[in-house]
Amino acid sequence: MAARPHPRSLLAVVLVVLSALAGCSTSHAAAGAAPSKSTAAPDVAPEVPPAPDPTSTSSSSTTTVSPPPSYPITPAAPVGPSRGAAPVVSRVATTDPVIFLTIDDGMVRDPRVPQFLAEHRIPATLFLNAGPLKADPAYFVQFTAMGDPIESHTVSHPKLKGMRLGDQKAQVCGMNTVIDQVIGGHGHLFRPPYGAYDDTTKRAAAQCGANAVVTWRVALNDGMVQTQSGDHLRPGDIVLSHFRDDLYDNLVELWSQAQQAGLSFAPLEAYLPPPNG
Ligand SMILES: [Zn+2]
Repeated sequence: MAARPHPRSLLAVVLVVLSALAGCSTSHAAAGAAPSKSTAAPDVAPEVPPAPDPTSTSSSSTTTVSPPPSYPITPAAPVGPSRGAAPVVSRVATTDPVIFLTIDDGMVRDPRVPQFLAEHRIPATLFLNAGPLKADPAYFVQFTAMGDPIESHTVSHPKLKGMRLGDQKAQVCGMNTVIDQVIGGHGHLFRPPYGAYDDTTKRAAAQCGANAVVTWRVALNDGMVQTQSGDHLRPGDIVLSHFRDDLYDNLVELWSQAQQAGLSFAPLEAYLPPPNG
């Protein structure tokens, strides 16, 4: 009996040849000349999505929205330490029709919040503590992916006022280190817990690389926008909010009031540029 190759063996040879051809160029596969499945080992590893890059501007959303405005609209004065102390900034000196959203601590992580900020293109500056950041890095990466910086709000949220310089620095610098480890880079601003600081805090902030100790003029609580003097939102206002249960409702109300006042949201760091550019 003449030995004939088994039909299955022939098929296997054809498949291997075709798949090898397909491997030369994707156009072969696209033309449908080669079967898409074969027993041959793939010569190309599957595509792995790149890790999130906080500085990257590439995103699927860029095809559907127009480019964001460039801030600052009018040039902003550099801000940095003077005589070894970081200045306290509670409001930005600008005539641009902009306000600045800051969000503190990190305890409650509502998934609607990054969605809302993305939908309305609201930049935010996050002042976080170590526990929440370490507990849920993926949540906060959603913000850094939108370009929002993460800043030190101390490691464990103590009242700094009255503490020794070394202890204050351990809290301020220590949080920068945590942000670097978890996110890969921290911002150059600092906010003291409870807004409580003394001259030592300003020195600690400067020695930890912060260009400003940031407080606020407007606070969001229980769905209300509260200005310190009881008036309305004004250009340059820094708005305090917290990652709490009421944050989403607070942001909806803030957005509404900003719209009525003709104010846009701008990135705080763009208006507080470091002295060396
Ligand atoms: Zn706080």
